[in-house]
Amino acid sequence: MIRHMRKKGIALGVILISLLILSLVIIYYRSTVETGNEAKVEESQAESESESEKEDYTESQSEAGREDSSEISQESTKESESVSKPVAAEAYDKVVYLTFDDGPGPYTADLLDLLDKYNVKATFFVTRQYSNYENLIAEEYKRGHTVAVHTYSHSYGYIYQSVDNYYEDLMAMSDVVERQTGQKPSIVRFPGGSSNTISRNYCQGIMSTLSNKVGEWGYRYCDWNVSSGDGSNQTSTDQVYENVTTGISKHKVSIVLQHDTNEKSMAAVEDILKWGIANGYTFLPMDDNTEMMHHKVAN
Ligand code: ZN
Repeated sequence: MIRHMRKKGIALGVILISLLILSLVIIYYRSTVETGNEAKVEESQAESESESEKEDYTESQSEAGREDSSEISQESTKESESVSKPVAAEAYDKVVYLTFDDGPGPYTADLLDLLDKYNVKATFFVTRQYSNYENLIAEEYKRGHTVAVHTYSHSYGYIYQSVDNYYEDLMAMSDVVERQTGQKPSIVRFPGGSSNTISRNYCQGIMSTLSNKVGEWGYRYCDWNVSSGDGSNQTSTDQVYENVTTGISKHKVSIVLQHDTNEKSMAAVEDILKWGIANGYTFLPMDDNTEMMHHKVAN
């Protein structure tokens, strides 16, 4: 009888001990799974944070290029807010709009790389004179420059013969730009500027008519106040540099005319950029808020 009871007691003890061990195992197992999950959650949070930090970093680097990386996550929100608004020229002391006419052509790709190197945005008044380079219009747009219309043909004898001819040519180039950029252009520049007198040879008074008409058609036209003198292939690189820097020095807001179809002129751009940056000028691309510059119409 006593033996029987002892046996029972041992069995009960074994069962209790096993239960205890089992519950300890369960508690241990549950706690490891929970910490594991927590660790995973933390990991993925850290990942997404570092990803957004990376994005902030790229953004503020490209926009300012001067932030200390420890300040980046705080600064970036402020900066992207101010950058997304259109930049008005009045916000700066000395502003330069670099404008390049007649391209795209054989020197345009190098010019785009150069502008990237100095993080400068410009405005291109494009034509379709060099049809092999048409796809560079998309590239100009993609790299943040403004694409505006010069003409399709750049043929004075055709476009200044009649309002209809000019309109037909303008629409043709506007279509090319829209096809390349996905955007309808809104700024134009007349070949020779609005003050050109060559047009008198083809149609009396046409510039007076066209300078009003483009507005009715939904465009704004823009001349310049600093000429590089590169309309002639005789102008040397040094002379282009001289003309542009002297011209810019005289104005609070400069609209510089150069041609990205002129190799000698393009060779002056890097020194012009260096000079402008060293002297505190801000280079801007034209936008809907840019005040247009108009010459005195002379035909
Ligand atoms: Zn031109």
